[in-house]
This record gives sequence, structure tokens and C-alpha cells, in this order.
Amino acid sequence: MVTTIAETLAIKGEELEAALARISAPTGDQGGISFGKRVGEGTSMAVDRISLVAAHERLQVMLADVRRAQAKLIEGDYGKCDRCRAGIPPERLEALPWATLCVGCAGRR
Ligand SMILES: [Zn+2]
Repeated sequence: MVTTIAETLAIKGEELEAALARISAPTGDQGGISFGKRVGEGTSMAVDRISLVAAHERLQVMLADVRRAQAKLIEGDYGKCDRCRAGIPPERLEALPWATLCVGCAGRR
């Protein structure tokens, strides 16, 4: 079975949206639960929420990259760096099909 880049991006986008939905669902109603009652638990809950927020942000950034790569595919721009317009090496696109910047530009992001 051959999977095209468009399919790979569509699948990844769905995965990320599902993961985002899972992460954002439980955080909304945890605010009022026994914060500060027991210090140990409250602290770990706070840490959990911080790491969840960080994970959520990472997923959102990746999803934005996937959406951008999909747009580039449609525009015929796929494989070109968004910043310096240089070609993104095929090995990089193979490892990271939603890469929208070359290695040099991605490092400076
Ligand atoms: Zn670049």
C-alpha cells in the first residue's frame, strides 16, 4: 500500500486533533478540586497541569505545521523552506513530512 504525503499529513492532522481533544477535555473542570487542601497532591496536580499545557502547546505547534504543509502541498510549495525558500532535503521530509522549514531555519525558530 502506497501512502502519499497528502494522506500522511491528513492522518497526522487527525491524530493531533484527537490528542488535543483528549488533553483539553479533562483540564477544564479540575480548577476547583481541593487545590491547596493537601499540599503533596495539590503540587503534583499543578505539575501535571503544567506538563499537560506544555504537551498541548507542542501538539498545537505540530498541528499548525501539518496544516501549513498541507497548504504548501496544494500551492505546489511543498518541500521548500518557508523562511529562506531553500529546498528541504528529502531525508528531512521523510523523517518529518510536515517540516515547513529547513534544518537551519528550524534551529533558529
Ligand atoms: Zn530555511
